[in-house]
Amino acid sequence: MAGFLENYRKDLIDSLSAVEKKRFTCVKQRRQHPHLHPECAFCRKIKANKDILLENRHIVVMFGRQHHKGHLLVMPKAHEEDLLKLHQKTLDSFMNDTMQVMKALGKAIKPDLFNLEYLDNWDHHIHWNIYPRFRKDKDWGNPPVIPLKGEKFKEMPLTKGELDVFKKELRRLKNKLW
Ligand SMILES: [Zn+2]
Repeated sequence: MAGFLENYRKDLIDSLSAVEKKRFTCVKQRRQHPHLHPECAFCRKIKANKDILLENRHIVVMFGRQHHKGHLLVMPKAHEEDLLKLHQKTLDSFMNDTMQVMKALGKAIKPDLFNLEYLDNWDHHIHWNIYPRFRKDKDWGNPPVIPLKGEKFKEMPLTKGELDVFKKELRRLKNKLW
C-alpha cells in the first residue's frame, strides 16, 4: 500500500509545472507555509502554531466555535481564497484528508452523521466546516444553525476522554496523510 501511495505521489509531483514543483518543495521542507496573509485570522493562528490539532504538508486542522460539539475547520496551510485555483496537491489533501479527519472525530464522539460545509462568508481563507450532528440536536434534520457573529452561544467542547481518543486517532493518521 505504501508503495502504491509513494508512486502515486511521485507521479503527481512529476506532473507539476516548474512553478508548482518549486512551491511543493517549499511546502514540503518548511513546517510553515510561506504564503500567509498578515490580516487573516487563520493565517495568524497557523503562523503562531496556535490551536492546531493536525497538519501535513498542505492542510491544517483546528477546532471551530463549539456551538456544535466537535466543529472542525480544515484548511490549506497557505492563504488561498479561490477553491477553483487551488494547487492540485493541496486540493487532493483538502478533500481526501478531510475524510480521514472526519473518521477520526467519528471514533471519538460517534455522531449520527456529519455535515460538511464550505461557506466563505467571514474568513476567506479556504476552509471546510465539519459539523458532527446528533439526533438530540435542536436543529437535527436541518442544516446546522450557526450563531451570528458576536452572538453568544452555549459551548459544547469535547470531554477530556473524547479529546484523548480524537488526538490518539489523529496521531495514528499522521503518517497516512499527504
Ligand atoms: Zn489566511
